Parts: sequence; C-alpha cells; structure tokens
Amino acid sequence: MSDNKTILVTGGSGLVGRAIQKVIESEGKSNETWVFLSSKDADLCDYNATKQLFEKYKPTHVIHLAAMVGGLFHNMSHNLDFLRNNLHMNDNVLQISYETGVKKVVSCLSTCIFPDKTEYPIDETMIHNGPPHPSNFGYSYAKRMIDVMNKAYFEQHGCMFTSVVPCNVFGPHDNYNPESSHVIPGLIKKLFDIIKEGGDTFTVMGTGKPLRQFIYSLDLAKLFIWVLREYNEVEPIILSVDESSEVSIQQLAEELVNAFDFKGKIVFDTTKADGQFKKTASNKKLRKYLPDFQFTEFSQAIKESVDWYKENHDTARN
Ligand code: NAP
Ligand code: GDP
Repeated sequence: MSDNKTILVTGGSGLVGRAIQKVIESEGKSNETWVFLSSKDADLCDYNATKQLFEKYKPTHVIHLAAMVGGLFHNMSHNLDFLRNNLHMNDNVLQISYETGVKKVVSCLSTCIFPDKTEYPIDETMIHNGPPHPSNFGYSYAKRMIDVMNKAYFEQHGCMFTSVVPCNVFGPHDNYNPESSHVIPGLIKKLFDIIKEGGDTFTVMGTGKPLRQFIYSLDLAKLFIWVLREYNEVEPIILSVDESSEVSIQQLAEELVNAFDFKGKIVFDTTKADGQFKKTASNKKLRKYLPDFQFTEFSQAIKESVDWYKENHDTARN
C-alpha cells in the first residue's frame, strides 16, 4: 500500500537508536517497517557500502543517528576525526537518500554545536551565528553542515530532509567507556566501580558549576518518532527539556549519589576542563507543537539509568 513506510535508522545500536527501538516495539504499528542498523551493517563513511545498504532495504524514510559521538575530553583530543568521520557519514547518507528517492530524512544535530559566544536561551535560528566552543569544533562544524545540506537539497531538489537538535542525552545502552563517555554514563560507571571497590571519594572532573539540560533517551525517542511522522519543516527543531530543568554538574553528581545510595563524599577535580559553561536552549518551538508533552522527572530517569547499568554492566559498552 502507498502509505507503507520502511524506516531505516542509522546508528540504531546506540543510546538514542535503542531507545527509539524500545518505543517502537511497544507500539506495534502495522504500516511501518523499522530497520535498526549498526556499524556492522555498513561503514557509513564508505559510499559504496552505504549505497548497497540502501539498495538492500529500499527505505522510504531515514532517521540518521549514526555519528562519531563522545564527551568533552574525547572531543578535545580528536577534533579532526570528529570532523572528517561525521562529514563523510552525513554526505553519504544524505546524497544516497536523494539518489534512491527517500521521502524524508531526519538527521541529528546537538545543542553543543551552537555558537560559544551567544545570547541565551539559544534557539533554532542561531546555529550558524558564530564559532562553536573550541573544545568540540570538529563535531560542531560537521553537524552544522547537515543543516546547510538540508537547505541545499530542498532548494535544488525539493527534498524533505530535516534535523532535530537534542540537548545532552542519557539512558540505558549509553557509552560508559571513560575514554570517550559523556558525563552521565562516565560518572555512573565511576561511582559503580568506587562502590564495588569500597571507596569513599567520588571525584568529578571540573568545578561542578557548568549547567546542562539533560533529556532521557526514552523521551527523546518519542519526540523523534513524532518528528518523523508529523514535523514537515526543513528548519531544525530543538528537542530539549524546559529551561527550568537545567542542572549543574554538581546537582547531577548529587542525584547520582542518591540513586546509588552512596555514603561517601563528592570531590571536584578543578584541574580538569569544564568545557562550555552552559548552552541553555529554548524548546519554545517544540512546545508550540506539543504543549502538553511530559518529560520524565530527572531523578526518576537517573534512577532508571543507574538501575539499568547495575543490571547490565557486564555487557554494557565499557
Ligand atoms: P552512540 O550511542 O555513540 O551511537 C552511535 C551510533 O552510530 C552506533 O549505532 C554506532 O554503531 C553508529 N556508528 C558510528 N560510526 C559509524 C560508522 N562509521 N558507520 C555506521 N554506523 C556508525 O551515540 P548516540 O548518543 O546514540 O547519538 C545518536 C545521535 O544523537 C548522534 O547523531 C549524536 O550526534 C546525537 N546527539 C547525541 C547526544 C548525546 O548526549 N549522546 C546529544 C545530542 C545529539 P556501533 O554500535 O556499531 O558502533
Ligand atoms: P558536553 O556537555 O558536550 O560538554 O559533554 P559532557 O557530557 O562530556 O559534559 C561535560 C561536563 O561534565 C563538563 O563540565 C565536564 O567537566 C563535566 N564532567 C565531570 N566529570 C566528567 C566525566 O567523568 N566525564 C565527562 N565527559 N565529563 C565530566
């Protein structure tokens, strides 16, 4: 039937991809076939391998999540790799989507690609208004080019290629490897190991003062699916919790201590980088479309993420 959809999810084995898969499996919509991919299916930096993948599955729609992704410290030491790998993946996925007649592509930007020197809150119109923070300029420029490409594909070929801009994401199936992890999975693993070894000091990098908006991966998954089905602008849309839900890294550390019921003390290693002080984003556009969307309460989402790690640490990406 003409409204049958085949949706290819690149990066389907990651934090966000696994959350989308969980929400989709709980829905059971009959006119949609979802295919969740990992790098084992194809290296999306390789044009021919990517083309073969699209010829095999013949997607009508694509959610493009695949990316080289990492926390502050991984970005600081690998800006060139973040730039080149992500440029290659994005160019291949968008160009092959165009060549094979994909009807809609939803790609993924991030609030950490916005200008470093800016007014707050940041909104969708401000992505290109100045250089990103120097710590992650490689990732940021590669991600910003998705928005440029989406506009060019629309202008030249009429393609409905759009993008979303999530704030910091966390949840089950995150990357817990201390070399490359974001702050929440990094600290979950650290605290889990401290407790296992009987330690009494939880050392958090930086001053603890930077502010972040964190979205639970299962909330983001619901919003992603809504964007795929309902949102028809080429212009990006920020998918973030409300500004009032912004927390400091210190508050986050305290939430984790509560979730683990850790009785020791928190210490801040101020010799380590803080990164961007804040990147407060406005979700006004999202709220215009979905005024009643309920985000999971932060402490509950942290507790669920900690419990998931406790149960799955043996097989998690450590
Ligand atoms: P993730 O857990 O690290 O997953 C990355 C995914 O990309 C994995 O499925 C990985 O496959 C795949 N991948 C990486 N390199 C690939 C390659 N060369 N070819 C094919 N697949 C490749 O990342 P995530 O946190 O879910 O991020 C998903 C999207 O959200 C990304 O576009 C990211 O930029 C964006 N985002 C993330 C955050 C965040 O806080 N995590 C915030 C804002 C935006 P394997 O499993 O096989 O390695
Ligand atoms: P960002 O939001 O893009 O900067 O990415 P992160 O998730 O890496 O968050 C970084 C913030 O958390 C910075 O202020 C870091 O100093 C702080 N932080 C504290 N401990 C850790 C840790 O163990 N890993 C990471 N990635 N960040 C940490």
